[in-house]
Amino acid sequence: MSKPCILDYSKAELTALVKPSFRSKQIWGWIYHQYATSFETMQNLPKAMREELAQNYEIMPLKIARKECSTDGTIKYLFELSDGKTIETVWLKMKDESIDEEGNVENEARYTVCVSTQVGCKVGCTFCLTAKGGFTRDLSAGEIVAQVLAVKSDNGLAAAKRLNIVYMGMGEPLDNLDNLAKAITIFKDEEGLSISGKRQTVSTSGLSSKIDKLGEMDLGVHIAISLHAVDDELRTELIPMNKAYNIASIIDAVKRFPIDTRKRVMFEYLVIKNKNDDLVSAKKLVKLLHGIKAKVNLIFFNPYEGSDYARPSRGDMVKFQEYLTSHGVLCTIRDSKGLDISAACGQLKEKDLNEAVS
Ligand code: SAH
Ligand code: SF4
Repeated sequence: MSKPCILDYSKAELTALVKPSFRSKQIWGWIYHQYATSFETMQNLPKAMREELAQNYEIMPLKIARKECSTDGTIKYLFELSDGKTIETVWLKMKDESIDEEGNVENEARYTVCVSTQVGCKVGCTFCLTAKGGFTRDLSAGEIVAQVLAVKSDNGLAAAKRLNIVYMGMGEPLDNLDNLAKAITIFKDEEGLSISGKRQTVSTSGLSSKIDKLGEMDLGVHIAISLHAVDDELRTELIPMNKAYNIASIIDAVKRFPIDTRKRVMFEYLVIKNKNDDLVSAKKLVKLLHGIKAKVNLIFFNPYEGSDYARPSRGDMVKFQEYLTSHGVLCTIRDSKGLDISAACGQLKEKDLNEAVS
């Protein structure tokens, strides 16, 4: 049996566990600022304490099983968990660093980590590769936290460098709400990774009752709603769970969600050729979002081997975007990163390790 993972503990829990409290602070610093993966390296702790901790706890519950680098700077990690299951995490470089004439850094590079929250997914969306493998299990808070630590460390990013987190990897984050909320809190800790709520975006296929619960937790995170359709019939075809949580219930939950007044709720709209790429849908979308401070992100359907749908033309995407923009709805087109390494939205899945490493 594997040992309890220290990344599962919030700072308050660690402080209750390791006495005196300055020791827990030191351990916290070693993990979140030095990326320590063994207690042995924590030289300012007494030897006996290091040995006892090592006997009873593990630090890093993930191993890099495979790493693929895209030509656009995106890196896809395949992580092996303690029980041999695998998840994928994507490291995205959003902006290159620029240097001014005197050689000073003018603009810092920006990074985003796309994090998984479950092995597989229960929701079963017909367009998503993660769904094809079914659901295996929830990730623990520590396994969610570990993904960010591992990629930050692997890319040599200094602890003080901020990054953004999007919960858009494998799984439905709100179907694992307790562990998600704990991970969010650990990420936010100012003596740890210090990633504020406004740098964290939870993407959901629309479990409206859980959107309310997340809102009540008041963690200050953003939400992104994977809407994809403007009528319930098509949405249920794409996201079977829509039968239980229909569009109206999602819109109502969004209206109740506490949103930073300077921010907008993101609506993701997966555009599929000949399904939802027409201007009648665009018109309905404008109507649906009336009264919400929304931003629509249009996503090209990313095909994978055996997928049932087709990618829309860029021309149709642009027309859709122009319709929304000209009717007062802020709208962007997401240019998927990492397509050449299947790291784009909807292309992540659990892998057989033998197949993955061969
Ligand atoms: N389960 C959550 C978060 C993970 S999916 C959710 O569904 O929101 C992250 C995003 O990728 C979602 O907006 C999802 O709809 C989108 N996606 C899934 N399959 C896709 C595909 N084949 N092409 C493009 N985007 C896809
Ligand atoms: Fe799950 Fe999101 Fe994929 Fe749907 S799109 S199956 S909710 S991961």
